[in-house]
Amino acid sequence: MRYIFGPVPSRRLGRSLGIDPTPPPRPAEAAMARPCPNPSVKKACNWNCVYCQLGRTRPFTRKRASFFPPEELLSELRETLAASPCGAIDWITFVGSGEPTLNRDLGSLVRGAKEIYDIPVAVITNGSLLGEAEVKDALLLADAVMPTLDAGSPDLFRRINRPPSDFRLENHVRGCLGAHRPRRRSYPPADPAAGGGEGVALGRERPCARQARTGK
Ligand code: SF4
Repeated sequence: MRYIFGPVPSRRLGRSLGIDPTPPPRPAEAAMARPCPNPSVKKACNWNCVYCQLGRTRPFTRKRASFFPPEELLSELRETLAASPCGAIDWITFVGSGEPTLNRDLGSLVRGAKEIYDIPVAVITNGSLLGEAEVKDALLLADAVMPTLDAGSPDLFRRINRPPSDFRLENHVRGCLGAHRPRRRSYPPADPAAGGGEGVALGRERPCARQARTGK
């Protein structure tokens, strides 16, 4: 699997099936310098957070781009969900090797995931591009958009998230506040097995993907 991982237990999203919309390039793509805009790097991001588990961002990826044909990822998703037991996944979550909104095809990927399966879709993002109209449109169909706000002052923001020098905290906050607010949906209560409290995960009350498709 190149794009899908999990499901992993998540405090906020129950059993979350991860999707990486900015995967590192395959060797052949790196050699051709296509289609990944940054063929030599392992992550595509426009910030360089001090806590990033993917290491330093070098160089920054500033422009949105197509990273791969969207159908490739959707076909992997179909295959994964078809093989998953009913109710095994609470959320499909876009998150991965960098900043998901840098993928120009994110809108069609979210739409594709939602058209086929009756499982809510979340996008975890640093929120830096939420002020852009195209990004807002791409996120319209997501059930949850979860941006990052780590700091309350420009100085702290610069020290923690280490964005490019022309990126301002005030623009980031404005982008997050003006972004699409997905229709209200309660998060599934955290999974006790993941150490997150008690409750029933949303997915256990929903029809499984195959039932949703066939109506049985
Ligand atoms: S926004 Fe995410 S991927 Fe980018 S540097 Fe920060 S933690 Fe890493």
